Amino acid sequence: MPRNVIILATIVTILLGMFRLVLFLILVWVAAIVFIIAYQYNSTRRPKSNFVCLDCATLHQESACPKCGSRLKKIYSQSDKYGI
Ligand SMILES: [Zn+2]
Repeated sequence: MPRNVIILATIVTILLGMFRLVLFLILVWVAAIVFIIAYQYNSTRRPKSNFVCLDCATLHQESACPKCGSRLKKIYSQSDKYGI
């Protein structure tokens, strides 16, 4: 996702550069940087996996394990580094 934002910002930079819209250029880059910071902040705050399967120890968010189909799971937390 942040890579797409950088590509988009680069394309907009080239387009606006052609028309010499430097003020818009700065605004686009500020918006892109703010978005990337917000995205990284969210991804570090929210762990990707919320559950850990009690049968195969797969980390997942679904109600059933996507790997073995087991519904036996417990809530995964970052303080609980060893899973089971
Ligand atoms: Zn499983």
